Amino acid sequence: MDPLRFHPIIKQIRWGGRQLGTRLGKPIGPDANYAESWEICDHGVDQSVVATGPWKGWNLEDLVKQKADDLFGPAKSRKQFPLLIKFLDCQDRLSVQVHPNDEQARQADPTENGKSEAWVILDAQADSRIYAGLKAGIDRTKFEESIAENRIKDCLHEFPARRGDTVYIPAGTVHAIGEGILLTEVQQSSDLTYRLYDWGRLGADGQPRELHIAQALECIDFERGPVEPVIPTETQADGHLIESLVECQYFTMRRRTSTKSFEIPTGDGFRVVIVLEGCGTLTCNDNRDSLKTGDTVLIPSSCPQARFDADEQLVLLEAALP
Ligand SMILES: [Zn+2]
Repeated sequence: MDPLRFHPIIKQIRWGGRQLGTRLGKPIGPDANYAESWEICDHGVDQSVVATGPWKGWNLEDLVKQKADDLFGPAKSRKQFPLLIKFLDCQDRLSVQVHPNDEQARQADPTENGKSEAWVILDAQADSRIYAGLKAGIDRTKFEESIAENRIKDCLHEFPARRGDTVYIPAGTVHAIGEGILLTEVQQSSDLTYRLYDWGRLGADGQPRELHIAQALECIDFERGPVEPVIPTETQADGHLIESLVECQYFTMRRRTSTKSFEIPTGDGFRVVIVLEGCGTLTCNDNRDSLKTGDTVLIPSSCPQARFDADEQLVLLEAALP
């Protein structure tokens, strides 16, 4: 099965901007609030649709039903595509939130999954901040006190957002993305978010947005403590740099940087490849496809070969199952 390209699903939310179009080439309209591009998604009514090639017009749910062995490889077969891949343009600060783990998610909705997620920051302003984890020593009692006294912010661990940084947010980690950040996100296929704090803002209707304090408190991992950016583990292969960014039970993430040709191994599961920087060509058998910054490709497990030729420095993010 050849690599698959999908139509992005663009979400307009008030904190979005225009960079999904201007920086990443996504199809946006004239508005100012393009917040998320769901690049690969098999979640309920949100279904990625194949954009080109023999499977053009198929949605991901049907492809998984019909071609599971090709997509996943027999050893890793699934009934749902397990990862959700996004770009986010966060012009305004996002709410302080937490996501449930698998067990907690299924109590809320038997069809849902937990949500562990990881971000790679594509761009940030000099004063952009990431809020990740609670400060050392914040237990449930202290955290509940801070909610009652409307000073949650004092409990949040924060650091400057820097281009290229990776942040891993397992389920149960309190977090918020600050303003002025463009990032790509790899997450479990899930849409369950419990909002703890919205920075005192009002929604479009003039009312504060709903909070989910009780559910959030049940999901927070109070042992997790402050979260820092990932320190990548670097290796060199065939003249290109491979950085291992995340290895968790739900997904692995690697970043590959090269100015030449290199192959990504296939056959032991799918690879999602996201172009973070540069452009080049992806060749599989006789099939050649040009790639540019912001493109996302799903390489099925049964794809016999995937060779990348960089036109200039090419930086790819590769997500896979462990
Ligand atoms: Zn989140």
